[in-house]
Amino acid sequence: MEHGEALMLIQNATIITLEPENRILEDQAILIEDGRIASVGPQKAVSAWYEDVHRVDARGRLVLPGNICAHTHFYGAFARGMAIPGPAPKDFPEILERLWWPLDKALDPESIRLSAQVMLVDAIRNGTTTLIDHHASPNAIPGSLDLIAEVVEAAGLRAVLCYEVTDRDGEAKARAGIEENLRALEKYGRPSDGGRVAATFGLHASLTLSEATLGACRDAAPEGTGFHIHVAEHEADEYDSLNRTGARVVDRLDGHGLLGPETIVAHGVHLDAAEIAILAETRTWLSHQPRSNMNNGVGTAPVDSMLRAGVRVCLGTDGFPHSMWEEARFAYMLQKLAHRDPRRMPGDQVYRMLTRNNAALAGRFFPGAPLGVIAEGAHADLIFVDYHPHTPLSTGNLPWQMVFGFHERMVTTTICGGNLLMHERELLTLDEAAIAAAAREAAPAVWERYGQLVT
Ligand SMILES: [Zn+2]
Repeated sequence: MEHGEALMLIQNATIITLEPENRILEDQAILIEDGRIASVGPQKAVSAWYEDVHRVDARGRLVLPGNICAHTHFYGAFARGMAIPGPAPKDFPEILERLWWPLDKALDPESIRLSAQVMLVDAIRNGTTTLIDHHASPNAIPGSLDLIAEVVEAAGLRAVLCYEVTDRDGEAKARAGIEENLRALEKYGRPSDGGRVAATFGLHASLTLSEATLGACRDAAPEGTGFHIHVAEHEADEYDSLNRTGARVVDRLDGHGLLGPETIVAHGVHLDAAEIAILAETRTWLSHQPRSNMNNGVGTAPVDSMLRAGVRVCLGTDGFPHSMWEEARFAYMLQKLAHRDPRRMPGDQVYRMLTRNNAALAGRFFPGAPLGVIAEGAHADLIFVDYHPHTPLSTGNLPWQMVFGFHERMVTTTICGGNLLMHERELLTLDEAAIAAAAREAAPAVWERYGQLVT
């Protein structure tokens, strides 16, 4: 199967446009030209205009914009099935110290590349076409974002990359992290010309960043650059900030000029009301990862309060499989259980986070065309979904059909930037079996290095 041709006609599609005024249209055709949607219209009309064009038959399936993940970590792939020696970590700080920090130190260029490949196979299969990644590899910092960018390019997906600056491994590595972000910002920036790799400036979390390093990051970042940082994932982050500076985490970051409409803060589980107000005032994006929060036992983010205060809340996976409808389902369920109130997090609210908010966030990094909608001129990032609803599917009930009915196993075809990445469940750009085999072969050495570093 060819991919990457300039012209492609998708036919027999039932389109869910995900425009602000969403529409569901049957018997449609979509013409893709040079990575963008050139026209959308009734099958009979559009199909007749073009004779000599690569036709992709959607066979009546739903065709939607590809899903978007607002926060993930490709580098975590080798954690799957890995044993943590000794007693199980009792809280999130121990999970950081005994799982993630020794694991990211165990990564070398080859395992960084394999981790990204494994995660991108998963993203294509799950119909997620744009991913905002947060990378760490303290023993292989320079060039690490290029390694990931090469994998993203080869996979054909769209990604926003950054390196997490931290003081936990000393001044030289903090400096190297800053340099890696600056290099990537210079090289990738915000492509307006069809490029699929963008960059932002990564910071680990307030609790591993000194006043001097936060200031150095702000000074080094070019004007208009945003930051991507974990915030108040566990209360330890708040206590550290209060001890260090007397200010809570969001106040501290705001004091350094790190918030704003280009910045993404991940989690926000332990924010207070004033911090939520600052995020709303500064138009800072917040990414919610309910599966990760549940797995780490860190608590329930006050997402309802954030939304009511006007914070732009998005959805990410934090390195869990890039199955965004599943993440949305957990977001929907978690608030109800945690507050013992089934009115919390209604379906249309989680749907807006997943579709409108994630698209608006990702769109800032790819300003050349709209993202996350099926409309003329938009980026041609599309998925086919083999969903046969047994009740009427309408624009009104779509959020609940999505929460209860959509599953990633129904994704049959994934297209990004007008290129076919998966067709009828066959991956076209990445060799899934070969990647898994190479990763399995590399895993024992990664685990061995991890074992020597873990305390
Ligand atoms: Zn994270």
